[in-house]
Parts: sequence; structure tokens; C-alpha cells
Amino acid sequence: MSSYSFWRKGEVKRFELFRGGGDKTEYLFAAALALIVVGALYLTLKTVIWPAPQSYGMKWAQCEKCKAEFQVDADKHPEIINGETPASKKQDCPKCGAKRSAWIMNACPKCGKNFVRPSVLHPGAKDVCPFCGADYLKALTEKIRSETGNK
Ligand SMILES: [Zn+2]
Ligand SMILES: [Zn+2]
Repeated sequence: MSSYSFWRKGEVKRFELFRGGGDKTEYLFAAALALIVVGALYLTLKTVIWPAPQSYGMKWAQCEKCKAEFQVDADKHPEIINGETPASKKQDCPKCGAKRSAWIMNACPKCGKNFVRPSVLHPGAKDVCPFCGADYLKALTEKIRSETGNK
């Protein structure tokens, strides 16, 4: 007898075992259980790995031509969040109608007022809040630290 026919026999036996063993309700129960487990796993993964889409809310912008300040819905302007350079995030001004003339402003982590970061306008410039004089990056780091509880 060749090893091939031996293998085939084993295969048939295994097949018969599969068909014969257990009744239908047992399979149904197992299938339902598997479905529940997969469903729960999916929901867990969904909330942990793919959280609900985050809302970026309204961002302040300032037109460099007319100096008007206005709010833009960041969710409707993904370039505000995804733009690679500050210039790529610029918005059209609703006041004077200039195209891509408004810089996105940042809120001071200390006093909460919005301003166009100096380093955005002049690369290398120190980001200091024009209202309270806080060092933007330093204040931001401190704020994040106090919010996450890391000391
Ligand atoms: Zn303007
Ligand atoms: Zn400030």
C-alpha cells in the first residue's frame, strides 16, 4: 500500500468523524457563541483602536491683509489639521475676500488668548504670547503635563 492511499483513508475517516460527531444543536450553539465572541472582540477593538472620529472644533484665524479675526470649522477644513506647513493651513478671509490669506492661530496655553505664532510668520522666531508673555512651547508642555498627571 502506498503512502498516498493511506493518507486518503485517514482523510475519509476524519471527514466521517466530523459529519457524525455531535448533533446539530451543538453546532448551532458553537456557531452562536463564536459569533458573540467575534462581535464582542470587534466592538472592543473598535473602541480601543478606532475611537469615534474626533472633532477638532472651531479654530481662530487671522487675515494678514486686513487683520480680521474669524473662526473656521476645522472639521470642514481638514488642511487645518493635516496641513504640513503653517502656510498650507491658510484660509480664505471672509471679511476682505483675500484667498488663502489668513493664518491659523493658536490659543495661549496660559491665558487662553489666540494669536498667530511668531515662528509661523518668521521661522526661528521665539513663540511668545503677545498678551501674557508666556513661552508658548514651554507653557504647552506644562499644560499637557498637568493634564495627563505626569510630573
Ligand atoms: Zn482679510
Ligand atoms: Zn498668553
